[in-house]
Amino acid sequence: MARRRQLYEGKAKILFEGPEPGTLVQYFKDDATAFNAQKKGVITGKGVLNNRISEFIMMRLAEIGVPTHFVRRLNMREQLIREVEIIPLEVVIRNVAAGSMSTRLGIPEGTALPRSIIEYYYKNDQLGDPMVAEEHITAFGWASVQDLDDIMALALRVNDFLTGLFLGVGIRLVDFKLEFGRLWENEEMRIVLADEISPDSCRLWDTKTNEKLDKDRFRRDLGKVEEAYQEVARRLGILPEAGTRDMKGPETMQ
Ligand code: C5P
Repeated sequence: MARRRQLYEGKAKILFEGPEPGTLVQYFKDDATAFNAQKKGVITGKGVLNNRISEFIMMRLAEIGVPTHFVRRLNMREQLIREVEIIPLEVVIRNVAAGSMSTRLGIPEGTALPRSIIEYYYKNDQLGDPMVAEEHITAFGWASVQDLDDIMALALRVNDFLTGLFLGVGIRLVDFKLEFGRLWENEEMRIVLADEISPDSCRLWDTKTNEKLDKDRFRRDLGKVEEAYQEVARRLGILPEAGTRDMKGPETMQ
């Protein structure tokens, strides 16, 4: 098989040149990091599960008209995506206080918020992804006012839809992070959902027990990390048929 050119390696994913112009291959690793990569580890099988979970969610979102970069899954760890110009923002949507919001504002974890809150963080590892206001985003040209309007509208639609999707399988969508990109087609630009949506980027709590089914199990050393990711996939009805024993999948071709 032809060697592929690696374009970018992130903490949990690798991007390769795709088979056709305008496409990329997104490879999901088992590597896990937290606290801006100060904590590092491996969650066996995570890449396989996140590939499936993110595919499932992006496909459901596409069905309700949310544009995404997802094209199709290629194998256990890889998916074909459209190449987009990533907007350097992490867009966090919160329904329940947790994590950095609880720490920063002293609101106990688990407190339902009076309404969903959107926050923006500037994607910059060296600066530790600082929180920014819309004013910073438009003044520094990371996104235009129109881009931000589109991003906000899409983020709220995604939140409404995913809140319902997860509630249907007994999971509370506490908060999550989205990334967006610009997709150019014949001089026309559209904002589309990019990156991934998975237990790496969402807080997911069991509705009955409040058990955490997400990356907080790794961040906070709660144990049963692999099991939590599997449980999310199982509830969504997408646990890979091969089971979770042999999830190494194809090796990355360098
Ligand atoms: O840490 P914090 O409470 O701000 O995280 C909010 C949400 O955004 C969580 O669901 C977390 O998993 C996600 N997040 C992320 N990537 C980051 C920071 C936060 O996926 N770099």
